[in-house]
Amino acid sequence: MIKTNFKRKKYRGRFAPSPSGELHFGSLLAAMASYTDARHNKGDWLLRIDDIDQARVINNSDKHILSTLEHCGFEWDESITYQSQYLEHYQEALERLNQTELTYPCTCSRKQIKEMSENMDIKNGIYPGTCRNKNKHNIPKNTYAIRLKVPVEQFSFNDHIQGDYSQNLAQDVGDFVVYRRDNVFSYQLSVVVDDFQSKISHIVRGYDLLDSTPKQMYLQQLLDYPKPQYAHIPLAVTQDNLKLSKLSHAKKVTGNLETLVLAAQFLGQKVPDSKDFDNKDDFWQYLVTYWDINKVPRMEKQIIMV
Ligand code: GLU
Ligand code: ZN
Repeated sequence: MIKTNFKRKKYRGRFAPSPSGELHFGSLLAAMASYTDARHNKGDWLLRIDDIDQARVINNSDKHILSTLEHCGFEWDESITYQSQYLEHYQEALERLNQTELTYPCTCSRKQIKEMSENMDIKNGIYPGTCRNKNKHNIPKNTYAIRLKVPVEQFSFNDHIQGDYSQNLAQDVGDFVVYRRDNVFSYQLSVVVDDFQSKISHIVRGYDLLDSTPKQMYLQQLLDYPKPQYAHIPLAVTQDNLKLSKLSHAKKVTGNLETLVLAAQFLGQKVPDSKDFDNKDDFWQYLVTYWDINKVPRMEKQIIMV
């Protein structure tokens, strides 16, 4: 049984890259913002490698990411965790969800869901709940995903950067997958379990995950986990509006001081020119001391030249 009654005193932040490529400028921003906010608040900062989806893992990219972070001058607390080592935690959480009777197997393919939502005039991509009342017992293994029923209820929170954000889970999201038909625990479930297990109090990450937050809050509610604070930083995009992480030629981060200064400026912080710092330690000391999360632009994305 997972213990849910820990006392949360300390700021604990984290950075959780997926090992599906090298560290790019977009992920450097998430690393920098989560790290600096943690250190500015005298908190811990943990590293987690999100390798739950083994099919997307690129060999050795975890090692590249870690050595780049080290080269940038990041210092993390405790040992690095890998999602792939905690499958029993996700299984246990899934079983607890199953006990609520809010989960059900879904055999629909992506194509079927698209057709159904078109025919029923439901917002694109929202699952219409077709399998909610199917007989659970005759479905062969490996042919279904497990979905979670969502309530017609508004999930609202105050994002530290983006302000008030709210979603009605039934109308805006629909019953979502917690276990995939290819036998992988979903991103939503694994992240919520990990953040709980590591006693994470503050989550600072990219805007692309803002709309995952209400789903994660719902899971926290069902699993009786405390809710962390959230802050979502703007995404770095090119002039053509392409997300940096999606670009194969996105500038690989090497960890030089100029790139660190550029990242801090992107995050709205006033920092001197790179030549005015003696070294990276000097830069980090300055950034941690003068960090002001209220200066991070309240935007979905910002253009960066690559
Ligand atoms: N591993 C996720 C990603 O790289 C981030 C998870 C999170 O911050 O919640 O997009
Ligand atoms: Zn279905």
